[in-house]
Amino acid sequence: MALDTLDLSVFIALAVAVLAYLAKQKLFPTKDDSGFLPASSNSGRNLLETIKRNGKNTLVFYGSQTGTAEDYASKLSKELSSRFGLKSMTVDFSDYDFDNFGDIPNDILCFYLVATYGEGEPTDNANEFVEWLENEADNLSSLKYTVFGLGNSTYEFYNSMGRKLNEKFEELGAERFATYGEGDDGKGTLDEDFLTWKESVFDTLKNELDFEEKELTYEPGLKLEESDFLTIDDSEVSLGEPNKSYITGTKDLSKGPFDHSHPYLAQITKSRELFTSNDRSCVHIEFDISNSNLRYSTGDHLAVWPSNSNENIETFIKAFGLESKNDTVFQLKKLDPTIAIPFPTPITYGAVIRHHLEISGPVSRQFLSAIASFAPDDASKQRANKIGNDKAIFAQEITQNLFNIADTLLYVSQGKPWTKVPFEYLIENVAHLQPRYYSISSSSLSEKTTINVTAVIETEKKDNRWVTGVVTNLLKNIEIVQNKSSDKPVVTYDLKGPRGKFSNFKLPVHVRRSTFKLPSNPNIPVILVGPGTGVAPLRGFIRDRIQQKKNGSTIGETLLFYGCRNENEDFLYKEEWPEYAKELGESFEIFTAFSRHDPNKKVYVQHKILEQKDKINKLLESGAFIYVCGDASHMARDVQASFSKILAEGRGISEEKAGELVRSFKVQNRYQEDVW
Ligand code: FAD
Repeated sequence: MALDTLDLSVFIALAVAVLAYLAKQKLFPTKDDSGFLPASSNSGRNLLETIKRNGKNTLVFYGSQTGTAEDYASKLSKELSSRFGLKSMTVDFSDYDFDNFGDIPNDILCFYLVATYGEGEPTDNANEFVEWLENEADNLSSLKYTVFGLGNSTYEFYNSMGRKLNEKFEELGAERFATYGEGDDGKGTLDEDFLTWKESVFDTLKNELDFEEKELTYEPGLKLEESDFLTIDDSEVSLGEPNKSYITGTKDLSKGPFDHSHPYLAQITKSRELFTSNDRSCVHIEFDISNSNLRYSTGDHLAVWPSNSNENIETFIKAFGLESKNDTVFQLKKLDPTIAIPFPTPITYGAVIRHHLEISGPVSRQFLSAIASFAPDDASKQRANKIGNDKAIFAQEITQNLFNIADTLLYVSQGKPWTKVPFEYLIENVAHLQPRYYSISSSSLSEKTTINVTAVIETEKKDNRWVTGVVTNLLKNIEIVQNKSSDKPVVTYDLKGPRGKFSNFKLPVHVRRSTFKLPSNPNIPVILVGPGTGVAPLRGFIRDRIQQKKNGSTIGETLLFYGCRNENEDFLYKEEWPEYAKELGESFEIFTAFSRHDPNKKVYVQHKILEQKDKINKLLESGAFIYVCGDASHMARDVQASFSKILAEGRGISEEKAGELVRSFKVQNRYQEDVW
């Protein structure tokens, strides 16, 4: 029977649809590896099986909070594969169980890159591993390891995690095959410290373990395949949604648990500028959590998920010549099954740049020398190698100019776009955007369904170029638009978000539990020290105590030491303190230090603390708790020294003994710090 014209056209349409469907299935498999899975998913949580199944002989473990250790681990793992032919994989501690950890055979090289967080604590993803190591691990005699610790010497427990792992492994019989290393973010030398350590480890691999070194070449772990079928209008395509649930809509998004892989889209219901100065800015932001089961308790931290500014995106796109690619949809295929696909796919180039890559921070020397092979011409390649291989030139020409990746590459190539860089390379080598943490400035007792944060906006002008912090400028942009303020944003953002999901001033957030907590007995006196935005959680504490008083509790004395530059420009929550004093009565006192009040004499909180030595001494004798929040680099140390001095004088003991006493207060949680 012959087909008539209508039948024929229906048949052709059907055939095209079937072919398109089949091609799409081939290019875009719908099984789970299409995005956002832990690398371990192929072999579950059994590390030994994963190693065996994938033929690995080198493991690069990372304990990472802000993404730096993870970024170092991924670069190191690639370099070990490419330079030494090792079969290397990165390992996120939280992806595996540790019960057979002691059975890792001794022909596997284990690298541990671990950051220390807060008061000498492990990062969230290493928490359980450290607990296991301290309490359960026994014999690790077959483990061959080396450790690099990422720390900050302005903190008291500098690099305690790196040191702990190194010592504990040794104690349990493991064999360190290369030197232990440490990097110091406090001195700003983390990158260089890491490079120095890495070079010494590579020397060991060559000279003592007889590995042959090859020239570094890029061996992709992911393959990017552009789609001929999908567009930004297809509902399965990620336009930058925080995770897959936000694309498929299959989960009730107001229900948790909310954490680093699943945020809540919280609406900012109120925002206001707190400074009155023309050149500095600090915003108070209120997130509404009433329609969710997201909960917090006073003193916790709010993690705010970032996206990049339009201006930084534009320069990045220009640097790599990606102008025509913004809306192109692609899928990623794993060439190495142990590599995790870091965001939901299929996705557009534009969404990756805006929502997933850390494009605006400082660039590392390692990044520049590694990307040199993709330079647009020989002259640029030579310049990239020259700058990337020389610490001093790099510091002078790149670091001191506060260049980001795009600025650096355009500077090196004198404006020529780096079109030879594969986008997979950027996905694998540019750090991924991480949430920023803010000490919550509200009280969970008095406002259960609102989370307040207080953020100082990070902007700096360098030779007519704005260098900007990602999240703080996003918050400022929201504040300006929400209040129809006449302030001009330094940089602007897409406030509507993917598919308009962030409209009405919503941002993805989650809460991180903190140990910075008031004593459970409200009658215990507290001494609160929080200059600048350090006052944020202390405002929450004071609001807690007011609520406790309203609930009938007797409230112990509450001393607040606050400092800023100038009473009339940056005195945070200036109008609120007299209200709190009224509520708490005589038990509340605020002492202020305005550092720029007298041009001949800088006064800081530590001076004000010393002025109150008798009162403080008495309170400490009656069991007062001390809370210090804010700048970790100088303030926390100077404040601690003031308390030691007061204790030494008040108790007639040496300053050394008083210092030990303060440290013992810390151990007993009577001296708590929330510093960054
Ligand atoms: P980022 O993008 O992270 O940039 C960081 C800095 O680098 C900025 O100063 C930025 O200007 C600069 N920078 C950007 N690009 C470059 C470049 N190319 N070269 C050199 N420098 C560059 N902050 C608060 O304001 N309030 C709080 O209550 C608060 N609480 C915190 C609690 C905790 C536990 C922690 C860990 C941190 C807290 N912070 C707080 C700090 C906060 O998390 C952010 O680090 C801060 O707001 C900056 O974030 P950002 O995204 O704006 O800047």
